[in-house]
Amino acid sequence: MKIARYVHDGLESWGVVKQEQVFPITGDVYGAYQVRNSALPLAEVRLLAPCTPSKAVCIGLNYRDHGKELDMKLPEEPIMFLKPPSSLNHPGGVIEYPAMTKNLHYEAELAVVIGKKAKNVPAVKAHEYILGYTCGNDVTARDVQAKDGQWTRSKSFDTFMPVGPWLETELDPGRVGLKLYLNGQVRQSSTTANLIFPVPHLLAFISQVMTLLPGDVILTGTPAGVGPMQIGDTVVVELEGIGRLTNTVGPQAG
Ligand code: ZN
Repeated sequence: MKIARYVHDGLESWGVVKQEQVFPITGDVYGAYQVRNSALPLAEVRLLAPCTPSKAVCIGLNYRDHGKELDMKLPEEPIMFLKPPSSLNHPGGVIEYPAMTKNLHYEAELAVVIGKKAKNVPAVKAHEYILGYTCGNDVTARDVQAKDGQWTRSKSFDTFMPVGPWLETELDPGRVGLKLYLNGQVRQSSTTANLIFPVPHLLAFISQVMTLLPGDVILTGTPAGVGPMQIGDTVVVELEGIGRLTNTVGPQAG
């Protein structure tokens, strides 16, 4: 099932996406809800990121080939960092090119959205805490990342976390094909079968550190092929069995 968050007539709602239509949900998408029978055409709604995070937990260097291209040693445990909820961006949203960087990069990633409060969850039970999976772009100011020696500033600018277009609730996160297109050209191509630390392991590891809340996001890392974007570019993250997340790059808003 595909679940989207959207705006229609100025009202925010969740709904189930089926055959180019949205069937609105009433109730709590993280708890008990009903799906209405009357649908809206998908083209008449504006999609929002399908999550409401208190935090986004991101994993660095989770594909062997990306570690190699950055010339970094592979980790023995997942490397965690955070993106703030204020960096959230939406399907079709503009990624703003900050004045502080001269090297703005895309990073295509599988995004996991948490469905219920998770603390000390064993890996074998991880799937019970996941609402669904979607596409994510961990936008990074690569020059700032190198300069700062830690990643907060380089990963946290407003608009640096596009997520969407909707959640797929039934998916094996262990074998999802993943591609990134920059202006129609393939720049990243891999599969989550190449993850060093797979999704159940990540959820177990992170939930030993911090309680994950409904709506929180885990960005699971990016494969090789990261590279620069320029103002005017169109960037698409495509995940097999989920769909395409499209964003454009624009100047920093005043
Ligand atoms: Zn990343």
